[in-house]
Amino acid sequence: MLNIHAESVAELVRTVENGRKFCIVGHTSPDGDAVGACVAMREFLRSLGKEAVIVLPNRFPAFLRHLDPEGTILLYDADKERAGRAISGSQVLFCLDFNSFSRTDEMADALEASKARKILIDHHIGPDVRSFDLTLSMTDISSTCELLYHILKMFPNVGGNASLLPPLTAEALFTGMTTDTNNFANSVYPSTFSMASELLAAGVDRTAMLCRLYNQFSEGRLRLIGELLRNRMKIVDGKFSYMMLPFGLQHEYGYSKGDVEGVVNRPLEIKDVLISVLFTEDKDFVRVSIRSKPDVDVNAFARKYFNGGGHKNAAGGRLEMDMGMIPEYFAASVREYAMQAHLL
Ligand code: 5GP
Ligand code: MN
Repeated sequence: MLNIHAESVAELVRTVENGRKFCIVGHTSPDGDAVGACVAMREFLRSLGKEAVIVLPNRFPAFLRHLDPEGTILLYDADKERAGRAISGSQVLFCLDFNSFSRTDEMADALEASKARKILIDHHIGPDVRSFDLTLSMTDISSTCELLYHILKMFPNVGGNASLLPPLTAEALFTGMTTDTNNFANSVYPSTFSMASELLAAGVDRTAMLCRLYNQFSEGRLRLIGELLRNRMKIVDGKFSYMMLPFGLQHEYGYSKGDVEGVVNRPLEIKDVLISVLFTEDKDFVRVSIRSKPDVDVNAFARKYFNGGGHKNAAGGRLEMDMGMIPEYFAASVREYAMQAHLL
């Protein structure tokens, strides 16, 4: 059952009513849920006549670009001065879709140093409540976008009527919920379908949204996914799958961030596979993306072996390791974890 703390929402409403300058931030490598929540919040605040700026730690995938039609989202890594000023000059800082400042990497110091009132809205396990003045966190919900949807509905000017949300807010919320659930495949609750139903009735064009999200990629991206599944997917002990995406392969297929979104789920289609991991080579580290079958917890796996965390069935992290070392490291760590978690 959806159980949002009414007192916290009342406090949030007062903060919005009394504030003038807002800054909205999301996590590093922003995904649909992070970008969707930030855009939804910005458009909602603007509709109330407030000043609102979004700052993200780094670039977001091209398939989300339509959510920022004016192209005014600031990227901290590309423009530290302007992004830093937006953070330090705001009265209220909305932190969306992450549970601790460390998830914003380089931007974390600026966020911590900010004198603004800090508000967290998120759906990850273990929010770092001490860093925030107000925390609205739930884990039994599909996404931050869904949580934000139910919260915005409680604002007096919306009064439970989704059709009173600004159109871009509605679209952005639907987008983030769709990408975080992998289009209604995972982490879907009764409240998620209520949200979807109400937003469709309010006029969100889901067909157009799905086309923008899933049918606008390059040919190279689909061939890369083919290559990964055909030739790169390895399976340890018949149960633990991994794929590696090194720079060489990225260049060969014209890879850009977000291109292989979702591919890490595919090995779970194999009957006996319990855990699937994708290792993507990045500038100074290897990005780790992990998925599991429903009763296998990979949040603990990500924390213990990959300097990360996340949700029970979708987690991630990073390694500072040569790509060549990964097969051995993965096999050893997953076997150790499987023993402890009694998966073997
Ligand atoms: P993805 O595989 O889609 O990149 O990430 C799945 C989930 O894992 C995210 O929603 C997030 O909760 C978590 N996650 C990904 N990368 C990291 C990381 O570096 N640190 C932590 N703590 N969580 C991560
Ligand atoms: Mn999310």
